[in-house]
This record gives sequence, C-alpha cells and structure tokens, in this order.
Amino acid sequence: MSKVLGVPQESVAQFLSGTKQMLINGEWVPSLSGKTYDSINPANGDVIAIIYEGDEADVDQAVRAARVAFNGPWSKTSPAERTKFLNKLADLLEQRVEEFAYLETLDGGNTITLTRYGFVPSAVAHLRYYAGWATKLTGQTIPLTSGGNFHAYTRREPLGVCGQITPWNYPLLGTVWKLAAPLAAGNTVILKPSQQTTLTTLLLGELIMEAGFPAGVVNIVTGSGRKIGEAITSHPDIDKIGFTGSTEVGKGIMRKSADTLKKITLELGGKSPNIIFADADLDKAIQGAFMGMFTNQGQICVAGTRLYVEKSVFQQVTEKLVEMAQKMKVGNPLDPATQMGPLISKEHLQSVKNYIEIAKKEGATVLIGGNVLQEGELAGGNYLEPTILTDLEENCTAVKEEIFGPVLCVMPFEQIEEVIERANETEYGLAAGVWTQNLTTAHKVIDALEAGTVWVNTYLKSDNGLPFGGHKHSGIGVEMGYQGIEAYTKTKSVLISLN
Ligand code: NAP
Ligand code: MG
Repeated sequence: MSKVLGVPQESVAQFLSGTKQMLINGEWVPSLSGKTYDSINPANGDVIAIIYEGDEADVDQAVRAARVAFNGPWSKTSPAERTKFLNKLADLLEQRVEEFAYLETLDGGNTITLTRYGFVPSAVAHLRYYAGWATKLTGQTIPLTSGGNFHAYTRREPLGVCGQITPWNYPLLGTVWKLAAPLAAGNTVILKPSQQTTLTTLLLGELIMEAGFPAGVVNIVTGSGRKIGEAITSHPDIDKIGFTGSTEVGKGIMRKSADTLKKITLELGGKSPNIIFADADLDKAIQGAFMGMFTNQGQICVAGTRLYVEKSVFQQVTEKLVEMAQKMKVGNPLDPATQMGPLISKEHLQSVKNYIEIAKKEGATVLIGGNVLQEGELAGGNYLEPTILTDLEENCTAVKEEIFGPVLCVMPFEQIEEVIERANETEYGLAAGVWTQNLTTAHKVIDALEAGTVWVNTYLKSDNGLPFGGHKHSGIGVEMGYQGIEAYTKTKSVLISLN
C-alpha cells in the first residue's frame, strides 16, 4: 500500500482520518465483519482513506432501520416538513461546496473546475428542486365511465424502502439524484455508492445527520457491488431499486429483482451519436462535439463518442478537433488550469488503452493521442491523452462498445438517411446530438433517432425539470422532472359508494 496523502485542507484531512464508518439507523457504525477497503486517489495512486466494507448482514441492518423509519417517523412527516429537511440539506451542502469539490476531485479525479462549478452546485439545485415537489404530489378524481353514485379518486403513495446503487463517474451528484426524489415522495433510502468513490457520499451523510432527518430515513452501506449490491437487489424487504451503472450489471439487477418483484429504474450505458451537418455553425458544433466527448475524461454516460461529420466539412472539422486535443491540458485535477484529469483506476485505464489497441488492429488511424502519460507530476496517476480515431467501419469494436474514456471516433457521412441508420445501429439509446441550421433536417433527425435525449445545436445540457433516461439497452424509466418523482410512488385507487 502506498503512503497516505498529506491533505492541505484541514477539515477534509480530519474527515479522512480514522476508518470511515457506515450510516445505519442514524449512527455511524463499522461493518459487522470488521473488513475494510482502501480509497484511492486516481491522480497518484495514493491511499487517501480506509473504509469499512459491508456485506449482506450490514445491508439487512440498514433495511430493518429503513423499514422502521418508513412505517414510523417518516410516514408521520408532512410534505411541508419533507420540503424543509431537503432544503436544509441543500443549505448545508451549499455552505461547503469547496470542501465537497475538493474531496470529490481527490477521490474520483474529476477536475476541480467541474466539481466546484458543476457537480456540487448541481447537487444543491437538485435537492431544492425535489424539495419543492414534496408538497405538490396529487391524485385525481375520476368520473366513472359506468356511472353510478360513487366518489372515485387516486392517491399517490410512497413505495417504501428504496435501494439506490450509484457509479463512480460523478459520485456526489449521482448520489443526490438517487436521494432527493424518493425522500420527497416519502420513501426511505439505502445508498450504495461505488467502492471507487465512496467519500463524498459519506460526507453527505454527516450533513444528513446535521439536517436532522429521523434515524433510518437515509442509510449508507459501503462495500462491493458483488456483495452488498447483490444483497440489496435480492433483499425481500426492499421495494425499489434505483440503479445507475453499466448495462451488464443493470440486466443482472433486473433479473434478480424479479424474484421479489421490485420496481426498478435503470440508468445504463451509452454510445451516443453526435451528427454535424455541413450547414451547422461549425465553430459551435466543433466546440460542442469536443466538450461533449472529453468532459470528465470521457467518463460520462451520454458522451458523444460517435461523431458523424458530413463529408464536405469532414477534414475541416477533424483538423480543428485535433488542434483542440493538442492544446488540452491533462494533469493534476486539483489544478484549476487542468482540463482533463486521470481515469478512475489502473484497471479502467488499461481497458481504455486496450480499446485503442484493438481499434488500431482493426484498421483505425489514430489522429492524435492514444498514449498513457506518466512523466513528472503525472507519475503514478491514470492519465491518458485525449484520443481521436478515424478510418473506422461501423462494426469496429471502438464504434460498437462503450469505452467510457477519452476516445472519440470520427466518421464521415454523405446522406441524411445514411447517417440516421448508422446512428441507430447500436444496442444503446441514451442520447444523441445534431448540429444544423436547417429546421427540417433537425426535425427529421429528432424524429428518427432512437435516444432518450436529443440535443440540437448543444450537447450535455441537462435540467432538473427535464426527464432523463435511456431507450433500448440504455435503461428503464427516467429521473428528473415530475416523472422522476412519480417513479418513487405507487397509485392507489379509491372507490366510495355514496348510496
Ligand atoms: P457498474 O460496474 O455497473 O457499477 C455501478 C454500481 O453498481 C457500483 O456501485 C457497483 O459497485 C455496483 N454493482 C456492481 N456489480 C453489482 C451487482 N452484481 N449487483 C448490484 N450492484 C452492483 O458501473 P461503473 O463502472 O461504476 O460505472 C460506469 C457505467 O455506468 C457506464 O456503463 C456508464 O455508462 C454508466 N452510467 C450511466 C449513467 C446514466 O445515467 N445512464 C450515468 C452514469 C454512468 P462497486 O463498483 O462498488 O463494486
Ligand atoms: Mg477513489
């Protein structure tokens, strides 16, 4: 094990000291087995914290606590009180943006610019958005088609205990997206953050305690997906799984949830097409395509990894993209000047590098990048150059599979029908982009693309009010907006005879 990092920020250093415990029933507790795992800084390989590793027994304790809280204090809490709790949590988080941003960057390698101005403030806004929804859930009165003297109406009721499993690519925001809607709707929650980026979820746990949520309303269990992820998925007293992660694991969760008939929302992988037509505002399109690919080291589910460029502007666009990649500053994610930090782990770096090697063997040309960076301050970190590939067939591995790293595939096209067909030639259907100034072209593509989100003359923009979810193998259900909270409720129909 390498040395523990010396942390400059005092409060974070204090937080990182000692073995990090789980939050169960309003108390910080060690794992019942006493086992632990290391939390690694991907920028240099240092161990920054030690965390208790839970298993089925710890999950069971958390589920019991969540059930008692659901049946007890949380069900007696009024919608307005739930609004207050969530707003209080948002206020506490807002006061500590710097600390959370710093910790998230340290743990996950996301650039400090992204965590400080993006992920953490977005988490605050998301909490406030769903705080507002707590008081606005309503049923309907229904005039019966068969007539008669009845009063018929629907109620929206919380589901119960929700097991929320999240990935490592934007850990705090990912956790908050799995927390706010279920709580606002009156559910209790068990959070299972990724083992690779557990720390900001645990720090959020401290704020959850400070905000005064009753014991057991929010529980955090830490450990591997194979153990506690599976324990959550198969636990008979969990009502719903909210999962964000890979399609492969998502499919397994769906299978296992069947035995206990759990409700599920799955936000899964993607291989999103981004299409630039020759009539687009090319400066904007190139900027959008670059940012839509390389933000967060390409470790974004909706990254525009397959860039289709109309043939007449193909050379112009690729030259500019290469120039931008050349200028991109890869380095220490804590440095505000850094535009691309390290990948999450050594294994992931190797996996991305393998994809580049396979692409070369399959005939691709590497326009720029492709190399691991280890010199100077990058030593020990999981750094890769921003990489742009071309001369790719539609059936190349790099075009087909989700790489989840900074590797852009650029391909020319000639006809609108052709590019639509190629864009849809994937099992995924998460997101897509189109760049054109022609409204007819835009609408034709919007209509034809199989994707949960289509961006026109923009990319990556998301909003708390706008539903987000995947089509095809990219998921089931949506988050955000009214549909995002409705997914944490069930309908009860009531019929009262007035005779
Ligand atoms: P992953 O391997 O599927 O893991 C996601 C979470 O599931 C982690 O907490 C993991 O735990 C846990 N897990 C692993 N195996 C499990 C099992 N058998 N049962 C239950 N839980 C299990 O994905 P990842 O590598 O962390 O994240 C990258 C993937 O997430 C990409 O495919 C990306 O596209 C997708 N993603 C999708 C969205 C979206 O909104 N659609 C957003 C972000 C990311 P441990 O890792 O701790 O073992
Ligand atoms: Mg880490």
